[in-house]
Amino acid sequence: MIIGIDLDNTIIDYRNAFWQTALATGILNDTGRKSDSNKKDTFPSKNAIKSYLLCRENGDYQWEALQGQVYGQYIHNAQIFPGVANFLLHCKVRGVKVYIISHKTEFGHHDTSQTPLREEALNFLKQNDLLSGDYGIQEKDVFFFDTRHEKVNKVKELKCSYFIDDLPEVFREDNFPKKTTKILFDIQSEHAMNCARKSWQDVNKFVFKQTETDDIAMYVEKGINKKVKSVQIIKGRGNSSVYKIEMNSGQEYAGKFYPDPTFDDRDRLAKETKACRFLHSYGIKSIPEHIWSDTNLNFGLFEWINGKEIVEITDDDVNRAAEFVTSLAKLSEHTSNKKFPLASAACLSGQMIEEQIRDRYATIREFADYNSELRRFLENDFAHTFETVLSKSKKLWPGKFEEQLSHNCQLLSPSDFGFHNIFLTKDGFKFFDFEYFGWDDPVKLTCDFLLHPGMVLSDKQKTLWLESMKEIFSNDRSFSQRLRTSYGLYGLCWCLIMLNVFTDSHGEKIISVVEKNKMEQKQTKQLEKSKKMLIHLNETHKNGLTYE
Ligand SMILES: [Mg+2]
Repeated sequence: MIIGIDLDNTIIDYRNAFWQTALATGILNDTGRKSDSNKKDTFPSKNAIKSYLLCRENGDYQWEALQGQVYGQYIHNAQIFPGVANFLLHCKVRGVKVYIISHKTEFGHHDTSQTPLREEALNFLKQNDLLSGDYGIQEKDVFFFDTRHEKVNKVKELKCSYFIDDLPEVFREDNFPKKTTKILFDIQSEHAMNCARKSWQDVNKFVFKQTETDDIAMYVEKGINKKVKSVQIIKGRGNSSVYKIEMNSGQEYAGKFYPDPTFDDRDRLAKETKACRFLHSYGIKSIPEHIWSDTNLNFGLFEWINGKEIVEITDDDVNRAAEFVTSLAKLSEHTSNKKFPLASAACLSGQMIEEQIRDRYATIREFADYNSELRRFLENDFAHTFETVLSKSKKLWPGKFEEQLSHNCQLLSPSDFGFHNIFLTKDGFKFFDFEYFGWDDPVKLTCDFLLHPGMVLSDKQKTLWLESMKEIFSNDRSFSQRLRTSYGLYGLCWCLIMLNVFTDSHGEKIISVVEKNKMEQKQTKQLEKSKKMLIHLNETHKNGLTYE
């Protein structure tokens, strides 16, 4: 099998590069643009920038000049699309030959520096290690043409079984070979075409059905240059796929393949890698050691933990979890705030919790039109509790509701912390899952530990936990008051998180009756859980936090 792939906007991801280059070259400025570290990055898209520039005087010229810069001198602002590197390795594993076939002029429009675009593109691919041969392609497998017609001729000449391109015009060329299967890489879902795929993950699925254990073995061998003996998939690790990898040497590792980052800027792999390395370097060994990771493959290799899940939680277990928080708190005291960004979904003020609830509510409310029971719950019960809990929180909040917690009171937090992310090993507890790691209010971690629906703690254990947390954060004078005033708000977040299952139900995918029933059962169950949580929050609102 032979596969041909276009280069610009198919392999090379310029989504953020247009904005960054427009700023760097002074074509645009970012005055008035709101940034929000808690949300997905909201850089203006290539199309938005294009439309904006074309409305300006001399806009055609500016747009063409910007393109020349993005594809040339400023190509370092681009990246490889998530999933490309995986696809190339999957081709290599299966003996599929890949060529890159690009329509690219030699120089950019209006570029006085005369940067050679083709050379820049090749250098960019080299810097990203794609032409080393490890991925099955070399410089001689990359072709550039002055016209689209010539490019399509090459697709024909190479007898490509598939050709992948982001421009439907390419497939409409008269000379496009009939035997070649078209795959339109349509990241913005702009084209209603059967051959459209919106991510490389979808292209992977379309061409190869699924990622095999042999593919994972190839990732590891390429990464650490050692032979893999076996790979076994381990189920049930959140949204990531986790594999147990045994090397020929007998050494065992955990391989983690993270959720598709194409539409998600949280960069879980980078966060987890950095957190594990940092904590290890400061002597916190109760977390898995990071061995190697590759951003383009979206894959990381960690120490394998031989341990078991904690099914029945004892008081001693709660104490040991608290000891880990103690070590994080001590480390936080000596860490500059510049060292890490905020944890995912961090809440440094009452207002940030309120905004998070409103955002989550708005997302789920969009799907509630299809479900009257959900709509009734959201609009009546939930909305009413939210109003009463919020107004009391605002009244009793220590200091200003919108004021952010000072850095010296913030904690380096794993964010998703609880017994669902702890293993018991012969050397004690091992804590894992640092995909959301960063600065946060320790009150959030304290509340989430109590509220997490995956954990069953007795009232006594909850009291124990709260006592430990108050002691650890005793220097933070408003800790207890923030805890009392934000517990209900975090609980409301959880009520909505439990309902996320409703947002999965109306994708483009056609699902079978059995799958549909299963999904509806799950939704009913989650709605019941959410209702129960709301009752608990109403009781807490009335009687106060009874574990205190
Ligand atoms: Mg293209």
